Amino acid sequence: MSGCSRMSAVKSIAERGGEGVKAASPIAFDFFGEDVFSEAVIRKYLSKPMAEKLLSTMRGERPFDPSIAPAVSHAMKEWALSRGATHFTHWFQPLTGGTAEKHDAFLEMDQGRAMMEFSGKNLIMGEPDASSFPSGGLRSTFEARGYTAWDPTSPAFIKRHANGATLCIPTAFCSYTGEVLDRKTPVLRSIQALGKAVTRLMKCFGFGPEHTTVSMGPEQEYFLVDREFYFQRPDLVQTGRTLFGAPPPKHQQLEDHYFGAIKPRVLAFMNDVENELWKLGIPAKTRHNEVAPSQFELAPIFEELNLSIDHNMLTMQVLREVAERHGFVCLLHEKPYAGINGSGKHNNWSLSYGKRNLLDPGDTPQENAVFLTVLSSIIRAVNLHSDLLRSATASAGNDHRLGANEAPPAIISMFLGEQLSAIIDSIVGKGKAGRGRAVQAMMIGVDALPTLPRDTTDRNRTSPFAFTGNKFEFRAVGSSQSCSNVNVMLNTIVAESLDFFSEQLEKLPKAKFNAGLQKLIKQVLSDNYRIIFNGDGYTEEWQREAKRRGLPNLRTTPEALKPLLDPANQALLSRYGVFNGKELDSRYAVFIEEYERKVRIEGKIALGMATGMIAPVVAEHYSRLARTIAKATEARLTYGVAMLRKNAEDLGAAYEELEMAIDVLRKAVEKRASESEVLDAMAALRKIVDRLELVVDDALWPLPKYREMLFIY
Ligand code: ADP
Ligand code: MG
Repeated sequence: MSGCSRMSAVKSIAERGGEGVKAASPIAFDFFGEDVFSEAVIRKYLSKPMAEKLLSTMRGERPFDPSIAPAVSHAMKEWALSRGATHFTHWFQPLTGGTAEKHDAFLEMDQGRAMMEFSGKNLIMGEPDASSFPSGGLRSTFEARGYTAWDPTSPAFIKRHANGATLCIPTAFCSYTGEVLDRKTPVLRSIQALGKAVTRLMKCFGFGPEHTTVSMGPEQEYFLVDREFYFQRPDLVQTGRTLFGAPPPKHQQLEDHYFGAIKPRVLAFMNDVENELWKLGIPAKTRHNEVAPSQFELAPIFEELNLSIDHNMLTMQVLREVAERHGFVCLLHEKPYAGINGSGKHNNWSLSYGKRNLLDPGDTPQENAVFLTVLSSIIRAVNLHSDLLRSATASAGNDHRLGANEAPPAIISMFLGEQLSAIIDSIVGKGKAGRGRAVQAMMIGVDALPTLPRDTTDRNRTSPFAFTGNKFEFRAVGSSQSCSNVNVMLNTIVAESLDFFSEQLEKLPKAKFNAGLQKLIKQVLSDNYRIIFNGDGYTEEWQREAKRRGLPNLRTTPEALKPLLDPANQALLSRYGVFNGKELDSRYAVFIEEYERKVRIEGKIALGMATGMIAPVVAEHYSRLARTIAKATEARLTYGVAMLRKNAEDLGAAYEELEMAIDVLRKAVEKRASESEVLDAMAALRKIVDRLELVVDDALWPLPKYREMLFIY
């Protein structure tokens, strides 16, 4: 019976023992960036003036000069060939959530002779058939063509596989008519919009033009599960999460996994992941066990936003690929196991002007004034547009974290830390006596602002949007999601708030600047004070309090996506050149459809598993009991028979419940009921299946159990 294959999986994992704990190669920094078309490579393969031109484009200082394209593509090809690449691809990020690549060999034929070629045109533009990528109707009236356009600000790299290597050129992806079909283009647009707004604001403070850099460091959580178990779980294989499974008696309540010693087999895996990431120039820095059993985290050192997003997409791929080589499967789903912590991605975000981090309180009164202005702008932005931030985190998987009394809640609020909150309280006149008043006394004129404390403590892990010293950490992003959406929204709404300040400040005569600024800050902080919340975000009490404050609580994906259609939101995003209305409509269509499809697929898988895998073993156990009772009665036994009968009756009753729940789900799936009906039916079915898991003969149960998947590896 199938239950046996579960046992044999356990046995083979146990027998593997010490094997498989050896990494492919020892960890080494020497190879850092060796597969990246880096500054050093550019200087080696291009003449000095051309290298300078390309590098300044890569730094975002000037647009690309097309006249150097042939030289650049030649250099790229020479370098890629020397590193063993045979193909090139325009690497892009369609709305599927993953990355896409179509490989072309460098091969060209010249009168029957094979040549290795890669032209400037091939570098700059590609024309993949876009008809099979989601567009939300953007292309239906036109031809299926889509274009990929080289993004010179993210360096080309080489991706290796077991039998070769491919030169990958990061590209944006748009339709024939120029509408965005990907996740990179809006990032680039939003960075530009924010840069403009920052420069304008800094001018008000008397700063000359500098380059604005948006920085991001994503902390990536994930689960590992042994492949032997994975392949016995159709739900994991097809949906990335377990649709059934009773929580084991011991899961995470002892809190003995977080930061615990990393098992050798996992360490070997992490070792190989890091080696691969370093070769790709991805600065993986931190690795540790997370809260849930078999859950881990990887964090890189932060980088420029566009690059950081590309790198996170690559990181997810590398995690998956390396896991496979180690006999694991890497689960990036937001909620692979019910009742156990889910996985997120902490999006650490900051803003620099020239070399200065604007989220760093600074040492001088002027720096403080800039800091407080930027901080107030962000508070205003998040308060006015938390719905847009939430929309960027909406997905079927993330619904199981946000809105499910888990970290963090679906209500967006901001945590500022104790000291900064005290200062803000004093500015808006809510300060307590004593310290508050002292701070307030120093607020006369921006010149006399106090030196702000650097509060780097991060005590509130329940807040979705926390200030952590010199950056904001947005924690609602799902572990499998691209960081693109959230940063696009964040950049745009912050740009709008910075412009709000600039507009007022530009009107102030010089002599009244400080007083005017102070008044403005006070006004903005008072108006947007409701978004600040330093308490426990998981409690029922906060749900009520947030409602009283009028903060949106968008629990499910359909609710959370609605803000994309809001005319005011559409006007804002189009004013900043990030999305036009058509593009937002199309995104809404793509994301809602993806949600509906995912829920439906889950419903069908759950149905199939319950009918084909669960019901038969329950029936088998039941009939065994019946046979045993018959035999015992035949033998005229007395003791135990009543108990057997009771067990059989209980199991029979549960079996009926199971069949009824199956029926409800079948109808929901077949009659195309609403997604919430399908989800409810799945939840009801799960309840009875999970109860049965605990009473049906363990040797019969076909699905690897939580206690096995989470602990045996
Ligand atoms: P934790 O949040 O777990 O305490 P850290 O604060 O050390 O961890 O860093 C988390 C992530 O934030 C890392 O990727 C780090 O590089 C990134 N980070 C640190 N400073 C900044 C910054 N100024 N801007 C953006 N990201 C940053
Ligand atoms: Mg963090």
